[in-house]
Amino acid sequence: MKDLIAKMAREGYEPGFPGSMETANHAIDAELCANGICENCNHVGLTYMPFVEQTSQDFRAFSFCPECGNAEEL
Ligand SMILES: [Zn+2]
Repeated sequence: MKDLIAKMAREGYEPGFPGSMETANHAIDAELCANGICENCNHVGLTYMPFVEQTSQDFRAFSFCPECGNAEEL
């Protein structure tokens, strides 16, 4: 997960949500990830990783596999 955070930081993103987004949307995405299957190793149960670019409030989110470290953009 450190690699993903470092990669996003280089692009100007930090972990978090834009202030304008509904928290209910994040809860749904987090639940989808929790039930998700890793495309790389088939591990069940992925971590939801939201990022926000503070200047533009651009939002990107990833599912992160705690088993193999694979990250897929949502
Ligand atoms: Zn995996």
